Amino acid sequence: MDPEVGVSLNKTKGNMYPWTTHTWNPIKGKCPHECVYCYMNRFPQGGLRLDEKCLKDNLGKVNTIFVGSSTDMFAWSVLPDWILKVLNHCRNYPINTYLFQSKNPHNMYKYEPVLPLNVIVGTTIETNRPTSEISKAPYPRTRLAWLDQFSGIPKMLSIEPIMDFDLDVFITCIKQVKPSFVSIGADSKNHGLPEPPAGKIREFIQELQKFTEVKVKANLKRLMK
Ligand code: SF4
Repeated sequence: MDPEVGVSLNKTKGNMYPWTTHTWNPIKGKCPHECVYCYMNRFPQGGLRLDEKCLKDNLGKVNTIFVGSSTDMFAWSVLPDWILKVLNHCRNYPINTYLFQSKNPHNMYKYEPVLPLNVIVGTTIETNRPTSEISKAPYPRTRLAWLDQFSGIPKMLSIEPIMDFDLDVFITCIKQVKPSFVSIGADSKNHGLPEPPAGKIREFIQELQKFTEVKVKANLKRLMK
């Protein structure tokens, strides 16, 4: 553990975003979106709660911290008081950049006036198609429309785990949001999702690169052979 950072601030490792330095999860518990592919499904999680101990953490400076990587802290069932306490703690460490990523960006947008100074807001979109078979979260196109409400704040999209898509429709909806960058990854644990072929992914990446930066995660290699 880095002695300069708090006990609940974890250095980024594994399949997480390599462009972040840490993850921080003060809100814990079973995510209500219940995505079948969620890496947290293999751990006992308990009910949603704010871990007040985390609010004593030193978040350091010049870090890029993914806040809420283990549950969606902007899901409707997360209490507003918890969210406000977490954002308030982040604002106490203004020399960091904070990534807030939610499959419920409409709720995240309500907190836009109290976000810390340096933030990236984002959402996950596995495909442009409906996702009710694999998640209770709002559909990807709804998430995109809600993320589009943010202006003047850098936006990112996580396309992971990528699922089969309709190229023209997917590109059109992504372009509308004007993401600063897009991160693409694949299902790491073989959940039997419908996955696009390598050629289609290559064409998708080429189209994205016409208007945004594309960060390809290492786990996408499996689909690119
Ligand atoms: S939204 Fe994220 S944290 Fe929540 S169940 Fe889905 S993958 Fe897991």
